[in-house]
Amino acid sequence: MASEQTYIMIKPDGVQRGLVAAILGRFETRGFQIVGMKMLTPTKELASSHYGEHEGKPFFGGLVDFLSSGPVVGVVLQGKGVVAAARMMLGATKPLESAPGTIRGDFAIDMGRNVMHASDSVDSATREIGLWFKKEEVVSWTSCAAGSLLE
Ligand code: UDP
Repeated sequence: MASEQTYIMIKPDGVQRGLVAAILGRFETRGFQIVGMKMLTPTKELASSHYGEHEGKPFFGGLVDFLSSGPVVGVVLQGKGVVAAARMMLGATKPLESAPGTIRGDFAIDMGRNVMHASDSVDSATREIGLWFKKEEVVSWTSCAAGSLLE
């Protein structure tokens, strides 16, 4: 399976609750590589672009207001199959429907405060990485754990 990149983001509730290390630690310890990372308070414009596919839906305004209400931590993760793996580790959109062991299943209850985002496809990941990061902010580095005998 080819190496991919995905965009994940600790939302304002995850930052406020002090969950940044706990969430990112799951990806690092599994073996995915952090190749970009930043903290910022998104503008409404950036939040609206990020969630552009939901424009016009009843929850859109509240979602944009919330995402731009405080700092988030945006991360580019790299690794084999990382797009689907990050979604699996994240859990369902509704935290109460997320299995224990997933991030939302372990850390959240409400859909509007579900602590983290992860791109839902390779195409979304490409779009979102381009939206949140400049080219030079994504760093190319080789992990010493990488080996030529891996599948
Ligand atoms: N959301 C919401 N109400 C809804 C659907 C979604 O508040 O009825 C919020 C929720 O925080 C979710 C985000 O909008 O994480 C984006 O929705 P999406 O369907 O893309 O879910 P995700 O990819 O985050 O699981």
